Amino acid sequence: MPLHVHQSSTCDVCQEEYYNFSALLDGEVVPRTPHGIGCGHVFCIQCLKACRPSQCPLCRVPYDATRIKKLHVDKHTADGYDSFAKEEIRQVRSTVRGFEEGLSDQVINELLVEASTWLNGGAGYGSSSTGIRSEAVKTIYDALFRYKTIVRQTSSFEDERRELHRQINILKGEVLTAEVVERSLIEEQTKMKAEVIRLLSNDNTTLNILCSLTTDCALWINTSTINTMKLGSLGKKIGN
Ligand SMILES: [Zn+2]
Ligand SMILES: [Zn+2]
Repeated sequence: MPLHVHQSSTCDVCQEEYYNFSALLDGEVVPRTPHGIGCGHVFCIQCLKACRPSQCPLCRVPYDATRIKKLHVDKHTADGYDSFAKEEIRQVRSTVRGFEEGLSDQVINELLVEASTWLNGGAGYGSSSTGIRSEAVKTIYDALFRYKTIVRQTSSFEDERRELHRQINILKGEVLTAEVVERSLIEEQTKMKAEVIRLLSNDNTTLNILCSLTTDCALWINTSTINTMKLGSLGKKIGN
């Protein structure tokens, strides 16, 4: 367990709580964080930088103002978690909440960016103490990435499925149209057959006309067959 600074710990010079109070430092307002000097005593950075001459406010041993050491300690907060663990837990929670609410592309991307920022120590997170404790965030990152890949594959399958469905519907429509046309042709044929039979049985003149037509047809077919044969043999001759 890393060294903790209790939430009520104060700097012995300004009497203000570390981390909970801020003050100006090099033109910027930053939290009062604990820093150590050569003698081993600890004060806030602002007080140490302001001390003239540079000697320990408690034991009076001079210190080198350029060699003030920042102490890498975690802030002990009211609910017992240090800030690092707290941030880690917040990440896990926001991811779980995202999953519960059904992750949209946008949410997945936001969570991925947040996790990778954390892992790379950006945005003030992470730092040297990250180490093994970021395993949770690393796991979240990997899981999110896998999830994103699967979502992408699923949606491309869904697109393909929809396209096939559309094509099947078009084909179904064509089959239906063909069936309607076929049915009307059969009806027409049946009607014509009935009409021919009626004419044949009632009207000798028509019968004669039909007979002559049939003979004409037969003759025509015959002639064209002979012509075709002639053409065929002619073709062969030319070919030879
Ligand atoms: Zn101070
Ligand atoms: Zn001292």
